[in-house]
Amino acid sequence: MNNIEPLIFEKSVPDRKCFILPVCDVPEKPLSHFIPQKIQRMQSPNLPEVCEIDIVRHFTKLSQMNYCVDTHFYPLGSCTMKYNPKINEDTASLDGFTKLHPYQPAEQCQGILKLLYDLEQMLSNISGMHCFTLQPAAGAHGELTGMLIIQAYMKKQREIRNKIIVPDSAHGTNPASAALCGYRIESLQSNSDGLIDIKKLKYLLSNDTAALMITNPNTLGLFEKDILEICKLVHDAGALVYCDGANMNALLGIARPGDMGVDILHLNLHKTFSTPHGGGGPGAGPIGVSRNLEVFLPSPRIQKKSDNSFTINYHCPDSIGKVRAFYGHAGIMIRAYTYLLLLGKDGIIKAGENAVLNANYLKNKLSHYYEIPYGKTCMHEFVISAKKQKEKGVSALDIAKKLLDYGFHAPTIYFPLIVEEALMVEPTETESLETLDAFAKAMIEIAKTIPQSPETVHNAPQYTKVGRPDEVIAARKPKLRWENIC
Ligand SMILES: *Cc1c(COP(=O)(O)O)cnc(C)c1O
Repeated sequence: MNNIEPLIFEKSVPDRKCFILPVCDVPEKPLSHFIPQKIQRMQSPNLPEVCEIDIVRHFTKLSQMNYCVDTHFYPLGSCTMKYNPKINEDTASLDGFTKLHPYQPAEQCQGILKLLYDLEQMLSNISGMHCFTLQPAAGAHGELTGMLIIQAYMKKQREIRNKIIVPDSAHGTNPASAALCGYRIESLQSNSDGLIDIKKLKYLLSNDTAALMITNPNTLGLFEKDILEICKLVHDAGALVYCDGANMNALLGIARPGDMGVDILHLNLHKTFSTPHGGGGPGAGPIGVSRNLEVFLPSPRIQKKSDNSFTINYHCPDSIGKVRAFYGHAGIMIRAYTYLLLLGKDGIIKAGENAVLNANYLKNKLSHYYEIPYGKTCMHEFVISAKKQKEKGVSALDIAKKLLDYGFHAPTIYFPLIVEEALMVEPTETESLETLDAFAKAMIEIAKTIPQSPETVHNAPQYTKVGRPDEVIAARKPKLRWENIC
């Protein structure tokens, strides 16, 4: 920490208090009347003794050390840090939703059941998938659920297939989810355009292939233009196509994976559908499936009856079972539902168009100063290679750190793995032209600084509260509580 300031524990003064209770005006009973002696604390906990303003300042300062979409531009590629409209929070905190109990019988919670059912329908319409489950709690959890469905499907077909093909540009969760289900991963090398190599795919497909896991647009921000042929090849080999749709922003209202022949698709409500994420908070990774896979979806399922009321169906004999308690993270679903109603059909198309427009605008501005190895035009994001800058002694990490000094969050770095010194930029559709210009200006200034004084970038950040923490120590030996080191 640059500016050493006393922490809340260090400000503690014996007997200083936040508030003073009025004198007790009823007969006092001994503590043991309420709490059995054997579980009573004999010594007071070592909490800081401070006044209210110290506490307020402590938490306010902590919140200001944090970086968030509500304070700054956040072009973290593949993470879609778009703005989450505050109306989403208003609806999610309505009493009618927050005071529900998940064990309440269906007759008493028709409202939320309708909302969840309608959200499934909306996601089906947007993606072209036959139907959805909202249960999975994150994108990776959706992938795992999808893999379990593939296993259940193959078992029903009496097929034994133990391999999943995953392109080398895939998000790390893809091979991890497949491996968790016991599949062997076959890595598919991308071609020189950064796309699926059809010849290599044909070579890998066999009677052992259970599925291809594809990401479209892929992590380079490119649309897999041969998707129809790819799906056909996979299906002809008796395998299924799993699509990672965590970044659906670019396709919103424009193209539908279901129409392209995809069998299973996961969406990230906490990316594309504007629900908050980061910091380990809850997310939601619903998956959509084609008609022939519906019976395997997690149970229970919400069903609409002929009188338009809703029931919870636990009788799903072919289901892979539950993947999450109750129906998943309902609060996140209410936010996504609000967002979709707010945008409407036209708004959804605009969101998709602007996500692509913003990314291409930035890409073109930066392409004179940085190498962008793949794609003339991109979808919602693009990937810079800082290979040239590295030759001058400045890495992608250094550039990312320097951006913090300009007040911008860093792009994703060193991913996808197939780009050397990668910086992955995703501006999202919620940013204004002025913000994009300011970010481009910072990136260009950094590019111009590198040949003259590489050390300025190498020693960044200089103006943030925290400099360069040792990331390995921070991950392996995190300090999660205050310790008096004096
Ligand atoms: C974010 C992301 C995932 C994983 O989603 P989580 O919700 O973090 O589990 C998978 N694939 C891609 C392409 C992603 O961007």
